[in-house]
Amino acid sequence: MADAKARQGPRCLHCRTPLRQTFVDLGMSPLCESYVPAEKVNSMEPFYPLHVYVCESCFLVQVQEYVAPEDIFSEYAYFSSYADSWVEHMRGYAEMISERLKLGSDSFVVEVASNDGYLLQHFVKKGIPVLGVEPAANVAKVAIEKGIPTVIKFFGEQTARELVDIGKHADLICGANVLAQVPAPNDFVKGIKILLKPRGVVTIEFPHLMKLMSGNQFDTIYHEHFSYFSWISAEKIFASQGLTLFDVEEIPTHGGSLRIYARHAEDDSKPITERAHQLHQREIGAGLMRLESYAGFGEQVKETKRKLLQFLSEVKRAGKKVVGYGAPGKGNTLLNYCGIRTDFIEFTVDRNPYKQGKFLPGTRIPIYAPEKIDDARPYYVLILPWNFKDEIMRQMKQIRDWGGKFVVPIPETKVFD
Ligand SMILES: [Zn+2]
Repeated sequence: MADAKARQGPRCLHCRTPLRQTFVDLGMSPLCESYVPAEKVNSMEPFYPLHVYVCESCFLVQVQEYVAPEDIFSEYAYFSSYADSWVEHMRGYAEMISERLKLGSDSFVVEVASNDGYLLQHFVKKGIPVLGVEPAANVAKVAIEKGIPTVIKFFGEQTARELVDIGKHADLICGANVLAQVPAPNDFVKGIKILLKPRGVVTIEFPHLMKLMSGNQFDTIYHEHFSYFSWISAEKIFASQGLTLFDVEEIPTHGGSLRIYARHAEDDSKPITERAHQLHQREIGAGLMRLESYAGFGEQVKETKRKLLQFLSEVKRAGKKVVGYGAPGKGNTLLNYCGIRTDFIEFTVDRNPYKQGKFLPGTRIPIYAPEKIDDARPYYVLILPWNFKDEIMRQMKQIRDWGGKFVVPIPETKVFD
């Protein structure tokens, strides 16, 4: 089947148009969440092309499905609860949306890709019935132990029908950072259409393509993220399944995200807001409906690599110690694309005990607990999850005691004295 697919050439995940226009080609990269345990550090690991296209018909920016989602998400290393500001962000969301939709004990909230229950726990505390849908058994288990009902499944048409068959219909379907990870976006949105009550609301958060482009955030591209959405491309996909986007919030998470609000196309109780119209117009203004606008991104990415390598070469030549902070997926894209290994960065640290003692995929940089930085007293700490840089610089401010400095690689290499 893979051969037949290769002969046909890649096609758009949404509209099946053949994909011809490259958005950016990041070369060969391992799966960025497949941390390497110590016992496998001398074994090989698979690398897959990280070649991103833009569809000339619907403008969906996308990576081909080279790896089955079951191989990526059945044991997922990302426990949402390890990032304080993310947990706080979702607590704020739970407050806001419960108030806005007047949710109560007779409502039903479904979260798709509910992870370890970091969001649904806030609804549970308010006495609002919830259900999480989460394909990664290891993180779902943590949620279930916290008392958050969770089914271990991928979400799509089939799962939605199974839930409807047992009488479940949602007043609110929410998801954060899941839409990008869906290899069949039409099926996913169709599932939402089926599960949503006639007057229900959907909110989905995803990193905003317009911000990815303007902020040079190419490291947020990985095999686990198949699609990169603009408002316009999301609008097309939801419309194709009978759902209308009627409101939007622009939020700072992951370097700039959208929280879109959707409803049934037939539900005229929720008019399309002014800010939704305005964002649509701004994206047109930014050229997101013209193929040429996407063509220059690849060159910008190459220049970012050259600048980061130049910085690291200079400081290493001067004999300065550099370590990393964090072991996020985005760090793995960046390090593999730039070819940065222990020759530049001795080690990295992460608060997530699941990652400690393992090695970064591809680059095999060891991951330790954050305390390791206090022993090593490096001159530079390269912050890989740059979207959490303020939080990390606060938590690690002691590095200034020995003259240490923070460096952020994106949108461009920048030292914080
Ligand atoms: Zn398309």
